[in-house]
Amino acid sequence: NNTLHIIGGGMAGSEAAWQAAQQGVHVVIHEMRPKVGTFAHRTGHLAEMVCSNSFRSDDHESNAVGLLHWEMRAAGGLIMEQAAAHRLPAGGALAVDRDPFAESVTARIQAHPLISVSYEEITTLPTDGHWIIATGPLTSGALAESIRAATGAEALAFFDAIAPIVYADSVDMSVAWMQSRYDKGETVEEQTAYINCPLTRAQYEDFIDALLAAEKSEFKEGETAGYFDGCLPIEVMAERGRETLRFGPMKPVGLTNPHAPDVKAYAVVQLRRDNKLGTLFNMVGFQTKMKYGAQTDVFKRIPGLTGASFARLGGIHRNTFINSPTLLDDQMRLKSHPHIRFAGQITGVEGYVESAAMGLLAGRMAAAEIMGATLPPPPPETATGALITHITGGAEAKTFQPMNVNFGLFPPIDARGGRRGRKDRYKAYTDRAKTAFTAWLG
Ligand code: FAD
Repeated sequence: NNTLHIIGGGMAGSEAAWQAAQQGVHVVIHEMRPKVGTFAHRTGHLAEMVCSNSFRSDDHESNAVGLLHWEMRAAGGLIMEQAAAHRLPAGGALAVDRDPFAESVTARIQAHPLISVSYEEITTLPTDGHWIIATGPLTSGALAESIRAATGAEALAFFDAIAPIVYADSVDMSVAWMQSRYDKGETVEEQTAYINCPLTRAQYEDFIDALLAAEKSEFKEGETAGYFDGCLPIEVMAERGRETLRFGPMKPVGLTNPHAPDVKAYAVVQLRRDNKLGTLFNMVGFQTKMKYGAQTDVFKRIPGLTGASFARLGGIHRNTFINSPTLLDDQMRLKSHPHIRFAGQITGVEGYVESAAMGLLAGRMAAAEIMGATLPPPPPETATGALITHITGGAEAKTFQPMNVNFGLFPPIDARGGRRGRKDRYKAYTDRAKTAFTAWLG
């Protein structure tokens, strides 16, 4: 049977269907809305934007998400086509009129001769045929249970608790230093795996004050906070007592600051390597519900991070996603059930654009397979390729958390370029990506 079945007609499922159908493959989208809803969706349209109406920066010369827009346009993407048709003035951002946008995506898909939409909830993993699961962060409970049975409980998460991620080259290493607690590890690399940022008592008190005063986001209705036992937001820890963080993620033990070997730090923030390239580091234990603006204000008070650039800020959300680095092959197939691909936010990417891009890729890969060919993933120099490489192998499986596209995922052009050359460096990344993506499309 040569039909491609897609579960979920959101950002990823809609784009996957469009791409596969444009390659000549019959597609059925199985979408549970409007019969079964989620706490965030309001309509029965495909590709509904659940929150912001922005696809973020459209700057494809010096912004990684803008580059992803460029690549999706080059590949004939439906989401980008309709975003352009319903664009609203928003400076450099690609903002759209959300309801007409989703209505038009739905109409384009329904009018496609090779696509049909079946409005139903799928509750179990299909046993044969060609499938893409693109059910998103709010995958229905029954299907999530079925995925969990196939992947193992450890490999399917229901929340993300994201600690901020910093570009390694934006940390001031004249203040911070590399060392693992108690120099643990067999090799020098392991003994120096963490970046450490020291705080004096006054700096710690100032940090706690800023944290307590910062603006926080509330949980949405329907999001439960039951996971809290495992990973408290830092501001909640600070509310429990001013010293709690100093005995938790900011404990200063087992570390010696080579810049001031005789001074014992009062508290230390540790950052752990977040990708194999070593370009990204996450702030250990720093998951937070602070608003984005507040996060940068508060974190830039930490010595060593005063000039930090963030590849992504922290957050805690209801989010169903699988441990892609262990479960998926580079064709986005479940290694244990290769007739099933995953696409969209459930693969551990984050954002409308990233989700649609993973749908684009899964749709093309599935179509190629149905037609007896294999489509290799785009090279990691491209935005699409950097994302797929990250989720299927580049990311640390143990600490895997959803990821936005960012230049830290790309093979470095000049890792020591510093801040001044950044704009030119990003242009070099996007030029290289466009050449590579065009070649891949060909
Ligand atoms: P979705 O777009 O959610 O599509 C999944 C589809 O699958 C849905 O239509 C759903 O109804 C359907 N479905 C689920 N289970 C089943 C089933 N068992 N059978 C059949 N159909 C099923 N990203 C941003 O870039 N900007 C934001 O502002 C933003 N805000 C967000 C706010 C919330 C509350 C959440 C949860 C996420 C937000 N995201 C945001 C993250 C994410 O990028 C979007 O959720 C994006 O829509 C993900 O695309 P997707 O295709 O993977 O999932």
